[in-house]
Amino acid sequence: MKIRRSGPRTPSTKSQGSVRTRRSVNKPKKSTKNAKYPDIRRDLERQRAAILNDVGEVLTHRDDLAAFPDVSDQASAEVDQNFSMRIRERERKLLKKIDEALERMDAATYGICERCGGDIPYKRLKARPVTTLCIECKTLQEQEEHARG
Ligand SMILES: [Zn+2]
Repeated sequence: MKIRRSGPRTPSTKSQGSVRTRRSVNKPKKSTKNAKYPDIRRDLERQRAAILNDVGEVLTHRDDLAAFPDVSDQASAEVDQNFSMRIRERERKLLKKIDEALERMDAATYGICERCGGDIPYKRLKARPVTTLCIECKTLQEQEEHARG
């Protein structure tokens, strides 16, 4: 029977050396695909947080209105409510787009044109992170929508 000296579990007197090797093995090896557009992901997450914060404020504001059901204020309260509902509708749509973009990042399909399957240039993604189409396809889509009326 041969004695192996390089076994990791072998209790050895030279234990100082094994600590160093263990640390390098423990390094997390995450998929690099997700890190393709780290700054855009940050932008999206920041935008998402800002929207959620805004929506939260709108909702709080509405609670305040409900707490004072003064008849003379009702007209302006309704205007306020319509306004906040419009904002929420718009923000809800944007929020959905942001969530979808983040999902595509997790699935590593972010930055790929939905229509032609080509890479969307970084510059376009940076300017419009929620886009799913490259410039060419976006232009084509707009032309089609125009033709349809
Ligand atoms: Zn395309």
